[in-house]
Amino acid sequence: RLPGIGGKTAQRLAFHVLSLPEEDAQAFADAIVTAKRTVTYCPVCRNFTAGGLCPICSSPKRDNSVICVVADPRDVAAMERGREIHGKYHVGPDDLHIKSLVERVAAGGVEEVIMATNPDTEGEATAMYIARLLKPFEVKVTRLAYGIPVGGHLEFADDATLARALEGRREL
Ligand code: ZN
Repeated sequence: RLPGIGGKTAQRLAFHVLSLPEEDAQAFADAIVTAKRTVTYCPVCRNFTAGGLCPICSSPKRDNSVICVVADPRDVAAMERGREIHGKYHVGPDDLHIKSLVERVAAGGVEEVIMATNPDTEGEATAMYIARLLKPFEVKVTRLAYGIPVGGHLEFADDATLARALEGRREL
């Protein structure tokens, strides 16, 4: 049932689980259920959180003047691996979440919005659309530079590529 796990690997994992002491197997099963029950979306950025604001939104060390827009919580994880973003995130470029992004920018204090949506047709269109919506707020809107292959996905880019893409970002 898990992505990227073929038959052979599934069998190996199943044997491993069977070899675990019962309390370990129970703890593993409980962890899956607990994650499913308690992990929800951050009310500000829509990243995953175990309740309340996510650790990034609630951190006093993060820069409130920069918002990095990504398509999926997995992309936050990818960006965080590179430790290049010191600001905050906004996840989910569908209409509802774009509205809440505009509200965040309208509330003031934001200087740059980095569009880190995927470099495919949909990601490009979303980046341009959001850039247009944010025009009235005189905020700098930038787009990741290429290096990430067109049609590729952020979450699969290696850290060096992501860092270069971020460094070379251009204004929209
Ligand atoms: Zn958050």
